[in-house]
Amino acid sequence: MITLKDLEITYDSPNWCPGCGDFGIWVSLKKAIVELELNPSKVVLVSGIGCSGKLPYWVKTYGFNGLHGRPIPVSEGIRLANHELTVIVIGGDGDQYAEGCNHLIHAMRRNVNITLLVHNNQIYGLTTGQYSPTTDIGEKNKATPIPTVESPLNPLSLAISSGATFVARGFAGDTTLETKLLKEAIKHKGFAIIDSLQPCVTFNQKNTYSWFYERIVNVNEEGHDPRDKMKAFALAEQWPLKKSLQDGDKERIPVGILYKENRSTWEEEIPQISKLPLVKQPLKEVDINPLIDELI
Ligand code: SF4
Ligand code: MG
Repeated sequence: MITLKDLEITYDSPNWCPGCGDFGIWVSLKKAIVELELNPSKVVLVSGIGCSGKLPYWVKTYGFNGLHGRPIPVSEGIRLANHELTVIVIGGDGDQYAEGCNHLIHAMRRNVNITLLVHNNQIYGLTTGQYSPTTDIGEKNKATPIPTVESPLNPLSLAISSGATFVARGFAGDTTLETKLLKEAIKHKGFAIIDSLQPCVTFNQKNTYSWFYERIVNVNEEGHDPRDKMKAFALAEQWPLKKSLQDGDKERIPVGILYKENRSTWEEEIPQISKLPLVKQPLKEVDINPLIDELI
């Protein structure tokens, strides 16, 4: 059995801004690993660039911090080599929904068996507040003084329509919910995405903890059945808003598990690895000279 102490690193500690939502997600991830009794030497955290990208430094598992938007191809490579490892991708809204969006769509349609945890702070925090694909229309801040005119991307609608088999939204201000979602996502067989609302207390002065507390609604507590794809899609479409609210209407941000289905995974469908991870297969000497002769 492992404890939170087993996941602590001793040589460094997080340098996120005090109050950053990344802390809540970091704590929740460690609690999920402990409560699932995962062996830290069988867990790989893969991240890209951004404030969230530093998270693997501060959890004592294996980790890989790669290029902006590219943690998904790295995690696919890890799963191809050894699909006995638990692979958790840590990304930001810029990293996953802008730079890495193409990789994201194809990993979802393939149903790669990984968990994607997106720290969605609706901004590029590390580079001081440029607007990102999930920034609310009309927002302006230090690095984007002219209000954005672009409609925000809807990550959960994209995930459901692209073939993700576990689609959820969490909130950094609710570590009980976040831990529960992470445990379910990690246990899920197939591509699991958790879009986690993550207040950036330094550069996003609109989407604050109190702003979210006033709007979030746990759809599972309301009785939503995650097997109902059409209902899941309707819930996903409730936020971000595409038009202004009518007088008296209240903005609702659905959190919880919106969609879940069972479908065979990418790793199960690839005949070369479906029976045994590549790293466990015997090495065979193969003479490639005839093939090269054929090509030249
Ligand atoms: Fe967190 Fe924003 Fe600070 Fe980055 S800039 S550490 S996202 S509060
Ligand atoms: Mg961001």
